[in-house]
This record gives sequence, C-alpha cells and structure tokens, in this order.
Amino acid sequence: MSRPRELQQSYGRLSLYINGQWVESASQSLHPVYDPAKGEVIGEVPFATGEEIDLSVTTAAEAFQKWRELPLPDRVQYLYRMKESFERHYEDLAIINTQNHGKTIHESRGDVRRTIENIEAAISAAYTLTKGDHMDLIASGIDASALKEPLGVFGIICPFNFPLMIPFWFIPYAIAVGCTLVVKPSEITPLPMDYVMKIFEKEVKLPAGVLNMVHGGKETVEKIVSDKTIQGITFVGSTPVAKQLYRLAGEHGKRAISNGGAKNSIVVMPDAEVDKHLQTIISSFFGNTGQRCLAGANLLGVGEIKDGLVSKFVEASKLIRLGPGLEDGTDMGPLVTDKARGRVIQYTERGLSEGAHVLLDGRGANVVGSEGGFFLGPTVLDGVTPDMTIAKEEVFGPLTSVLHTNDLDEAIEIINGNTNFGNMACIFTTNGRTAREFRRRVEAGNIGINLGVAAPIAFFPFGGRRDSFYGVLHPQIDTIDFFTDRKFIVSRW
Ligand code: NAD
Repeated sequence: MSRPRELQQSYGRLSLYINGQWVESASQSLHPVYDPAKGEVIGEVPFATGEEIDLSVTTAAEAFQKWRELPLPDRVQYLYRMKESFERHYEDLAIINTQNHGKTIHESRGDVRRTIENIEAAISAAYTLTKGDHMDLIASGIDASALKEPLGVFGIICPFNFPLMIPFWFIPYAIAVGCTLVVKPSEITPLPMDYVMKIFEKEVKLPAGVLNMVHGGKETVEKIVSDKTIQGITFVGSTPVAKQLYRLAGEHGKRAISNGGAKNSIVVMPDAEVDKHLQTIISSFFGNTGQRCLAGANLLGVGEIKDGLVSKFVEASKLIRLGPGLEDGTDMGPLVTDKARGRVIQYTERGLSEGAHVLLDGRGANVVGSEGGFFLGPTVLDGVTPDMTIAKEEVFGPLTSVLHTNDLDEAIEIINGNTNFGNMACIFTTNGRTAREFRRRVEAGNIGINLGVAAPIAFFPFGGRRDSFYGVLHPQIDTIDFFTDRKFIVSRW
C-alpha cells in the first residue's frame, strides 16, 4: 500500500478519457465539484459534447474488435493488475473518496474493499461462467453447442453515493468477458474515478479504447443510451431516472440493468436482542450519512419493544460524532451537497407538518471549524404513520421515521403495501420461524436477518425488486451473462 499523499486542495478542470488519452473537453457546460466537509469547490466537471460522446463510443467499438480476440487468460491479467493498483493506492483512493463524497474514511475504505472484491469475483467468474455447453447427437449425426460471446460496447451510468464500488459492479466483468465500455461517473463525485483512470493508465495499461470515461448529466446519459452502437446500459440511481432510462433503452432495443431508489424498513421484534444489535441498527440508518440504497429509513418497532427500543436508539444516536470524514473520531460526515441537505430538512419539516414529532433534531448541527460544510445531525421522528410522506418517499439522508406495529403481519403489510420500493428489508429477532416468515413474504430483493445492511458480496447478484430495480440480471456476478449472449451452433459433418 502506498503512503497517503498530501490532500490535494484543487483538482481544476477534469478531463475525459477517450481512446487511451486524456481529452480536454470543448464543453462550455461546467459544473462545480465540492468538498462537502468544507462546502468548497475543489474542481470543475465538463459535460462532454455530443462529438466527444460519439468519439468515446466509436473508439470503444473499434477497440472491441481486438479486445474480444484476446484469449481470456490474457484479458484476465489486466484484472490482476487492476486489483494490484487498487491495493497499492488503497489509502489514496479512500482519501479522495472521502474528500469528494464526505463519508468517513472508514466508510471509504469499505467502498474500496468492495471494489476490489468485485475485481476478484470477476477474475474467478470469467473462468467459470463464460464456458459454453455442448451435446453430441441431438439427432442422428447432428451435434449442438452453445457459446457465450461478448456483445460489444456498453454504457455504465453511476450514482454519487459509492463512487468506486458501483462502477466496479460492472467494469471488471465487462472487461473480463471481452466487452468495451463508456463509463459516466456521477457529476457530483467524479474525483475517485478520475484517480482510478489515472492509475490504470500507468499501471494497468489496458489497450486504448477498452475503458473510456466521459462526464455529464441527463443529456450525456440519454445520448449514450440511444446511441446505436451501444449494446446496453447499466444504470444505478434514483427511481424516476431508472424507470425512464429502462424505457428509453427498451425503445432503442437495448438490454438494461436499471437499479432505482429505496425506502428500507428495519423491523425489530419483541424478542430481538436490542442491546446486542443497537450499533448495527444505528449504522443502518446513519452510516454513509444515510446516503446508501441499503440504508434503514423506517424503524418499525413491533409490540411492546417499541418504547425501549426508541429511547435506546435516540440515546445512541446522540453520541454520533459529526465531523469531516477525514478526521479521526468522526462517526458521520456531511451530506454530499447543500441541495441534498436541504432535501432532508424539507422532509423533516414535511413530517412534522403531517403530525410526526421530533425526538432528535439534526437541523442546525454545527461542526466547529467546518462551518461551511453540508452537515446535518441524525434526526429521529416518532409517531410516524404509514400514510405520511416520510414513511413512503426516499429521503436519502440521516432521517429515521419511527413507526409502531402490533405484530409481524402488520409490519410486512406496511413494507409491501406502503411503497413500491423493494430494495431491502431487515428484521431483528431471535425466532427462526419469524425470520423465515419475513424472508419469504417480504417483497424486497435484499433481506437482512439480524443485520442492518444486507449487502450481498460480489459473488452474489445485488438484489432489488419492484421500483428499486428494472431488469432481469442484477449487478455484480450476474453481469457476466448481461455482457454476453449465447450463440447456438447445430452442426453435421
Ligand atoms: P440520480 O438518479 O440523480 O443520478 C444517477 C446518474 O444518472 C448520474 O450519473 C446522473 O448524472 C444521471 N442522471 C441524473 N438525472 C438524469 C436524467 N434525468 N436522465 C438521465 N440521467 C440522469 O441518483 P444519485 O442522486 O446520483 O444517487 C442516489 C440515488 O441512487 C438514490 O435514489 C439511491 O437509492 C440510488 N441508488 C440505488 C442503488 C441500488 O442498487 N438500487 C445503489 C446506489 C444508489
């Protein structure tokens, strides 16, 4: 591992990476990149022009012709080098991630580790999951086989909240199977991927055009999705955009993996070991400053557990140390932008106006020495009922809505009926039968039992159902099949 470098105070104007070269965009459309702990601009991201996007796609298409011809064991060598690069620059990557996103350095290290795990999974899966099938004699003198072939160029559209892990839910698998890519990081947190492309250029040395990066927003993404050369897209972000892009991809005859937003419930049964799991529950709601698609949002206390649970939850939440993510001892960093902070405040006010009452108010939190940062403390609203906006809509910040239910049936009814999200639901219980009922009946793609962030490791697909996911194949290991198609050969000699 390299020693952490000096924190860079300004990254200037970012460039695009096309055909193995850094390209200074001709775009006049520039957007600020922030250090959310300071509230200061630390860079500018240009939204690529139409010609630049076209160039990145043509380049990737040309590179595909050679890349697909490289034997798998040779392609996989590049992935080993990616892993080595990530390990070598582990701390730098975590630092930049925190500087641009705001999450704590520990959380950023987790982001980097999950990224590496996806590279490792892709290395292994490339050998095991790209093999075809063969059957002799499907009829007299006739044999049949199925081959998996890479499809071509894909677009990878990323959200702000895991600037490294989420692009790598897709990149290593696509590259391993022989596809080429145009990656568009979030315009809010582009710095970590910018750094990755720089270290990859020096250390991984992929052939030009295999991995391209453009920056931009809505128009950039729509152009990528509708480009006729692009075979498909992966999208991770909010539900309205996920739905719209899934539709757009369909209109253009492309495959899509489209992950949307979430409203996750954490159910605590009367038999739960609250003291043992309290920190786990707390970090589900406030880890990553609540900006996690697997963050707890609704805390459902069942039966008599509710009052004791809520007072412990609030007392423990008060102890969360708010501060810059790079400072030792910080438990929770700022929101990613001032707009994101404003959104959480608006939802808090909406909750109060609809009849909830506040047990812990994070508005007006002050971090001495970081007054310009986009900070907001943990907020807990009690008396929330299923019909309230804050029980239904995704807030994406450190706001907990506390609901009370009489039994498990009622809790499951709220989870399945109250929103159409289906990303994650968790239950805390000591009863195996209750846990089994929960996992079978809840309509969510990721289920946690006695844990608060049910993140499947890279060797499993990352789940999601209903309005949290549009598609068939999921991120991580499934993408080997997403980036390939089978060809069936029937032969007689
Ligand atoms: P977002 O939808 O605002 O943006 C995601 C990406 O889409 C960005 O690259 C952005 O530039 C682009 N984009 C934004 N508006 C667009 C439009 N109208 N048309 C085309 N492209 C557009 O999401 P975000 O704020 O970056 O990320 C937070 C959201 O992502 C939350 O809703 C969270 O739940 C979700 N998320 C989901 C998962 C999952 O696996 N389901 C994982 C992480 C985050």
